Amino acid sequence: MKIKVNKKILERNEDFAESNRKFFKKKNIFCINMISSPGSGKTTILEKTAKALKNKINIAVIEGDLYTEFDADRIRKTGLPAVQIETKGACHLSAQQITKALHQLDTDKLDIVVIENVGNLVCPSDFDLGETARAVVLSTAEGDDKCAKYPKAFAQADVLLINKIDLVKHLDFNISRVKRDAKKLNKDLKIFEISAKTAKGMQGWFNWLINAKR
Ligand code: MG
Ligand code: ZN
Repeated sequence: MKIKVNKKILERNEDFAESNRKFFKKKNIFCINMISSPGSGKTTILEKTAKALKNKINIAVIEGDLYTEFDADRIRKTGLPAVQIETKGACHLSAQQITKALHQLDTDKLDIVVIENVGNLVCPSDFDLGETARAVVLSTAEGDDKCAKYPKAFAQADVLLINKIDLVKHLDFNISRVKRDAKKLNKDLKIFEISAKTAKGMQGWFNWLINAKR
């Protein structure tokens, strides 16, 4: 019975998520869980965020990938601490993996922990990690129909970053449609149109993050 097993996994996940949530509250850490398809630009957004904010606020990153330590290495090059979780094929991060990763960070000094989830718009939405807020990233190259196709990812997010807007002139990507669809699912969703590459719109995201922490 597949359904029963899945329910058990999710219940177990919820116990760890609750303990992570308590931990973040106790340490006064704002934790944001970033969800997106592969290649949406999450790591580039985080590299740019690290460079802009590292002298203002203490940030650490937990990187989730099926294989490799590439993304954690990219973050470390910016000067921020980063822990890589290699899921060895699993398509989402679990709250228990976050609990373990937090042991590898000097959390007394931290203001913000960013979790870069495994690239996948489907099941990461089902796994509460105990985060304070959730961000979903959608890049213009992926198409403007994603809110309708993956509603959970957008309905449960606090912030939507529409990335790679510098490419929009080459694509049939209707930003208004995405914003309309996303707001239909989630009227409180905060939306930023950004290009991590050109820095356009990034200041709004930085300000949101700093204010969210307060
Ligand atoms: Mg990445
Ligand atoms: Zn999964």
